[in-house]
Amino acid sequence: MTTSAAVPLGPEGAITEGGTVTDRLVEANRAYAASFTDPGMDARPVQRVAVVACMDARLDLHAALGLRLGDCHTIRNAGGVVTDDVIRSLTISQRALGTRSVVLIHHTGCGMQAITEDFRHDLEMEVGQRPSWAVESFKDVDQDVRQSMQRVRTSPFLLHTDDVRGFVFDVKTGLITEVDPA
Ligand SMILES: [Zn+2]
Repeated sequence: MTTSAAVPLGPEGAITEGGTVTDRLVEANRAYAASFTDPGMDARPVQRVAVVACMDARLDLHAALGLRLGDCHTIRNAGGVVTDDVIRSLTISQRALGTRSVVLIHHTGCGMQAITEDFRHDLEMEVGQRPSWAVESFKDVDQDVRQSMQRVRTSPFLLHTDDVRGFVFDVKTGLITEVDPA
């Protein structure tokens, strides 16, 4: 295990030596909770928006989009791919929790561009079982955003598909660029 500098320091500025990364997260939570006040919100996102994004560690969604606590639903996975499970979350987000808009965020330098569908084959060779899921790797990030927008727009389960927009986040500049759906 490497030590992480990204974990906030505890109240005395100390990080427990020798603990695992999870131990440090738990310690950071103690400091967080010490100054936490209940914002008194209900579960419905204030901005009525769901953001689907890649899990990439360089993408701080709330900071990059000016979102605050309680503003949005955040749905993340490898690539920010619109899988059946993302549709499941979006369906619940819209039908049970009142969101209307969907924002898709992919990014430059995504790890999904470095692997291929051979990943599944190699996995099967290694463990003797073929995964039920597709890898959903891609070469062209703009095209992948377009496909993701299309999957959201054509889902029969969603109530609102009129405000679906897709963007690519540049990990070098922090800027997002909108992808033309056409
Ligand atoms: Zn990524």
